[in-house]
Amino acid sequence: MTNEQKLYEHTLALLKERGVSVEAIGDLVMFLQAKFIPGLTLETATANVLIVLHKREVQNAVMTGIALDKAAEARALDDPLQSIIAEDEGLYGVDEILAFAIVNVYGSIGFTNYGYIDRVKPGILAKLNAHEPGIIHTFLDDIVGAIAAAAASRLAHSHPELEDDIY
Ligand code: MG
Repeated sequence: MTNEQKLYEHTLALLKERGVSVEAIGDLVMFLQAKFIPGLTLETATANVLIVLHKREVQNAVMTGIALDKAAEARALDDPLQSIIAEDEGLYGVDEILAFAIVNVYGSIGFTNYGYIDRVKPGILAKLNAHEPGIIHTFLDDIVGAIAAAAASRLAHSHPELEDDIY
């Protein structure tokens, strides 16, 4: 296995370990794009998620965000950062900044998609935002929303004739 393949497999394994399947991210892509692309299937949506997950900057954001969530779960961070991440404080904002590294990959249309999905929180995003005791997904919810937004943007760019209304 090449180093690139190893990083890709590691990224998929990390997401799975944290309870996020690629199909669940594919569902978010369907939520964003099904109304704009007639006949879009979950299979195509999920295939675009996998393409996004091959990008090195995406893998770096996933690894970094999940590492911080896990460190906070293990109470391994110093206060006040420990409490800020554990309590998912609204004014922290670094989780969103990290997610922008992912959204950025396919241009500015990704920001619209990300803002929308982050507000509505459909599917797996609601689960990640449940703030169950002992489980910390302060970074992961933004990362997953951003991966879906990037995959949706990639799809939009491959069907430019269908996207006039969202530019
Ligand atoms: Mg967050």
